[in-house]
Order: sequence, then C-alpha cells, then structure tokens
Amino acid sequence: MSALLESEPLRAATIHYGRLAVRWAARKALSELRVAVQQSALASEPLGVTALAERIAEELNDHEAAALQPVFNATGILLHTGLGRAPLAAEAVRAIAEVSEGYCNVEIDLASGQRSQRSQAVAQLLCHLTGAEAAHLVNNNAGATALALAALAAGREVLVSHGQLIEIGGGFRLPDVIATFGARLRPVGTTNKTRVSDYAEAITEQTAAILVVHPSNYAITGFAQSPRLEDLSKLARDKGVPLIHDIGSGALIDFAQFGCPEEPVASQSIEAGADLVLFSGDKLLGGPQCGIIVGQGRLLESVVKHPLNRALRVDKFTLAALRATLHLYRQPEQALRSIPLLRMMNSSPDQLRVRAERLAARLRPRLTDWEAKPVSDEAFVGGGTIPDQAIPSYSVELNSNTCEVQTLADQLRANAPAVLARIREDKLLLCLHSILPEQDEPLGALVEKAAEKSKV
Ligand SMILES: *Cc1c(COP(=O)(O)O)cnc(C)c1O
Repeated sequence: MSALLESEPLRAATIHYGRLAVRWAARKALSELRVAVQQSALASEPLGVTALAERIAEELNDHEAAALQPVFNATGILLHTGLGRAPLAAEAVRAIAEVSEGYCNVEIDLASGQRSQRSQAVAQLLCHLTGAEAAHLVNNNAGATALALAALAAGREVLVSHGQLIEIGGGFRLPDVIATFGARLRPVGTTNKTRVSDYAEAITEQTAAILVVHPSNYAITGFAQSPRLEDLSKLARDKGVPLIHDIGSGALIDFAQFGCPEEPVASQSIEAGADLVLFSGDKLLGGPQCGIIVGQGRLLESVVKHPLNRALRVDKFTLAALRATLHLYRQPEQALRSIPLLRMMNSSPDQLRVRAERLAARLRPRLTDWEAKPVSDEAFVGGGTIPDQAIPSYSVELNSNTCEVQTLADQLRANAPAVLARIREDKLLLCLHSILPEQDEPLGALVEKAAEKSKV
C-alpha cells in the first residue's frame, strides 16, 4: 500500500483527486488483486507497482470523466429520462441561484412571520393555471400517486380499468404500488374495453377511489373503448367516491397545437370533474422534477396530513424552479418563447431543415472522412409521453467509407460536453429537434473535434 501511494502516478493523482480518493481506489485495487491471486486468475506476468498505480490513476480519470456533466441531446427524444428530461428555462435557473445563495422563506409566511406550507410558493399559480381549488407538491409523480393512494385509499379498494394497470418504468407497477401503500386493487372492465357501467357495478362501501391512469407509455388501438372522464366523474360524484386522474405527462397547455391531440391537459381534467389530478413537473410542463397534485381542498388536506408527505417533500431548488416556470405560463406566448421543451415542440420542419442544412454546410468542408448531409427524420417527445407518435423532424446524417460510425459515436460521448446521437444503418444521425438553435454552433465544433479523433 505505501509503495503504491509513494509511486509517481499516484502522487500525481493525489494532487488532483485528494489523498482520500487515491487511498480508497488503491485499497479497492489491492483487494481485487488479492481475490485474483486466491482464485489464481492472475495473468502470467505479475503486475509491477508502477503498472498497478497507473491503472488505479486511469480508473480515477475515467470515473471523473463519466460523472454528471452537461450533454448535447441529439437523439431526437425531447424528454429523455436518462438525460434529465426537460431542460429548464433561463428564468428557472436564475431562480434556483437566487434562493440558494443565501436563506429563503421556504416555510415561513413573511406577512405573519408564522410557519407555512412549503407548497404555498406555487399552490396559487397551479390553481390559476389548472382551475383547481388547491394544489400540493411532492418529489415526483410516482410519489404523488403513492401519497394519494396512501392518504385516501389505505385499507379499502381502488377501482382501476384492466387497460390501465400499467408499469411506468423502473419497476413502478400500478398493482404493486396500490398494494404497497395499503390499498386493494379492484380491476374493472377488460383490457380493451371498459364502460362506466363496469365501474358502477364494482362500487361498494369498500370503494375508496376510482383511479384513471393515462396510459402514456403505450396505446391500445382498434376495438377499444374507455369512458369519457365527464361521465365517470358524474358516477363518482353520485356515489361519493373521489375520482383520481393520473395524467402523467403534465401538459398545462393544449399540445394539439403541436400535433399531439391525445395528451390530457390538467385544466381540462379538472373541468371534466376529476377530484385530484396528478402529473410530473419535468415532462410536458418543462420544469424541474416534481409531482404535482391539484384538486379538491378537502382531499388535499388529507394528503398533506399523511406521514408519507414528509418523506416526499421537495427542496427549495425545486420550488424556485417550478415557480419561475409557472410564471412563464401566465402568458402562454411567453411560455412558448422561453421554456426549452415548448420551443423545441414549436419548431417547424422548415426551421429544422434550414438549421440542418446550415450545420451540414458548416461541417462538410471541415470533415475530411465524413460526408454530412441534411435528411428528414423523426423525433419523439419521450419521457413516457405519446409513445408511438413520431414528430416530423430534420437531422444531419454523417456517413463515412473509411471510419467506423461506432467510433465516432464513442468520441462524441467522450467530448466535454458529451454529444449523444443515434446510429441508423451504419450512419450517424444528429437530430436537431432536441437541440436548441443557439446550440447548433457549439454542437458543430464538438462534432468536428470528435470526427478528428475518430480517424483510424
Ligand atoms: C411518467 C408517469 C408517471 C411517473 O412520473 P415521475 O414524475 O417520473 O415519477 C406516473 N404516471 C404516468 C401516467 C406517467 O406518465
């Protein structure tokens, strides 16, 4: 150990990464070496101290390079969960900085000096924008679903259509979630057809809620039917059973204007009579990760009082970013101008074609081994929304007879910032739909650098 730490490579690494990190990495390498010796899986050449030290330093370097960093998303998937979903508006980024440099009144009402609810910073804005009576915030929409079920349905039954018993991802399966939070699932109807009468027949004194889930990550087409929310809410009201609508995607404005007519809008769901509406903050809303619950004040009071609420609470960064994002929605044209996701959704195929032509023209004379040309392509909203609906788009296609496309993709990812692209039929596609126009120039420079390095 001491020989390793005294070696030249690790002395250099210590200056950069600090003593603790180098010690930790050296200890790990030695213990792996011991295991290898015990299993006699060692290569014939014994490893010298310097060689081992170099390997440890290299691992530290690799780990540092792979850690969290900005990425250019040229995949054409606008809401990529692996890439942090919605990029924030500049106003939201500024708001995070403002509240985090010093203290902020996250839970103090400045008028009275008394303790307050932290959701209050955004609750009224959410009510204005959705028409709901009250609003509450938790750390994500999975948390919102869990909390609503735990607070309103524990020990009783939740009615869900067979066609909506979905898995959202990461093992978050609705039947399991309902069971985990102490409620009993009562599936109604069939996979493809569920009617209001199916719900009506299933309601008993054991029924705690009707849960309607927007099946955002898959679609049932063909011989299919589900009740209109208006009709279901009438039944729920008549029977005195709360109707919970998980719309998932969180649109505050109508996405029909972008050619996505199927996306539920929060205000329309409230208007149709849902008692609670649940959605994500970082999907179509274009804000920070959070779960938003809007609806009846009476129900939200029970939700806020539940002990699980404390485990799901949001931090001041989320509150500040969401508040700034919601401010932009007060004037919808301002939201379209300033919220990155809406700007991307709003870019026309013509604008994208012009940008693809410009980027290809810039790259062509500077890339010696790659041919760059604009091609029409398809983009996707992603993030579990609008699964099968491609949006017409444009990409720059890079093709080479001499270089490996996979090597170029690897070099693009090795850039700082990294560039993530798609490979199709041995060609690399840089989709401009998930890139903001002001990023075209730096993207071009990063592609040139990666192409230079990908030469054989
Ligand atoms: C995305 C989604 C969720 C989960 O939201 P998170 O904010 O990722 O936790 C839940 N329900 C539906 C219908 C969704 O689309």
